[in-house]
Amino acid sequence: MTATVFRKGLNLKHAVAGTLADDYHSELIEQIKNSDFIWQDGRLIVHLAQEFGFCYGVDRAVDYAYQTCVRFPESRVFLTGEIIHNPKVNTRLRDAGVSFLSDSGQSVEHLTKSDVVILPAFGVTIELLEQLDRRGCTLIDTTCGSVLNVWKNVKRYTEDGFTAVIHGKVHHEETRATASQALLAKDGHYLVILDRKEAELLCDFICDRIGIDQFENTFREACSPGFVPSRDLKRVGLANQTTMLMSESLEIGELIRDAMVDRYGHNVLSEHYRAFETICSATQDRQDAITTLLNTQQFDLAIVIGGYNSSNTRNLARICADSLPTFHIADADCLVSENEIRHRPANKRNQEGPDNSSEVISRNWLPSAGAVSVAVTAGASTPDSIVGDAISRLSTFANS
Ligand code: SF4
Repeated sequence: MTATVFRKGLNLKHAVAGTLADDYHSELIEQIKNSDFIWQDGRLIVHLAQEFGFCYGVDRAVDYAYQTCVRFPESRVFLTGEIIHNPKVNTRLRDAGVSFLSDSGQSVEHLTKSDVVILPAFGVTIELLEQLDRRGCTLIDTTCGSVLNVWKNVKRYTEDGFTAVIHGKVHHEETRATASQALLAKDGHYLVILDRKEAELLCDFICDRIGIDQFENTFREACSPGFVPSRDLKRVGLANQTTMLMSESLEIGELIRDAMVDRYGHNVLSEHYRAFETICSATQDRQDAITTLLNTQQFDLAIVIGGYNSSNTRNLARICADSLPTFHIADADCLVSENEIRHRPANKRNQEGPDNSSEVISRNWLPSAGAVSVAVTAGASTPDSIVGDAISRLSTFANS
């Protein structure tokens, strides 16, 4: 590397702590946490999941971004794209003077040695890292340790001659970065599968139940350059985007493992299939916490707060949508009135296919009389301030 890289912050944690607290802390959330995660106001009873909101990786990435602005006040500071999937946090960084290379008119080619570039929590592709290195700018690498752990496993698979099969979203920044790691090994390959349906198709190909055309119709855009399915699916290692639904990842692992047993026999399974659980503990904790909460009692509805492009928030909404009316909202502004809510519809867990619906408006979302019991959670990129504002607004409408 010719670029100077900071991977452990800039020693300015204390200098930004106050600003971070001003921007993202919530008194109401502190109060709810101190009341065993339950809060009642008039006819509204909110039950907050015991694990929700900012994860350790996001906390660290946002902290480093703020430190960068303090440390390099005279430099141009860039982000490669969104630092995390939360529009308000990204807007706050724009307001602090950070530019986004993903915006039109910006380009890596225009960077100079005196520029500073922040790499987001979900990492960047090898290709982009090499481009940035060639420009010689200073890099603030906030890639989360849990993402680095996935990369380590993907590299190991491909160095050992296994194709990395990644359960993830092919256009998600983290999955693109993870897939690029597979290309570091000589003849390394990857295939990205979205869900159980695609895993079944992959298994059908492995077991000779479908031909190459059907395989390519689905996976043409989801595999590495020069991918030859008959050659590159003989030995596969499974990894996950860190924010996928754990239950689905486990099912997919079982399916592929069984397909390899069918195709090659149990005795040589280790020569054809490897797996390493790479969903991060923060994602897992948030999924477990909302599942536990929903098992404790009946709720009238669930509110799930987070960016619409946040994979882990969408999966929390899927868990809730299985059993009750669920509204995935970006922030408090989505609660338009006691009769109207803007939200992104949540697929149920067993609903397959692309999960790309856009925001809709629903009416009569809040029961109009009697006690209202609401389960609340938030994705790993949602700060307490946004959760607190949403609960506060919910209370206003419930008690108006
Ligand atoms: S969701 Fe997990 S992998 Fe992603 S930043 Fe948070 S802790 Fe890291």
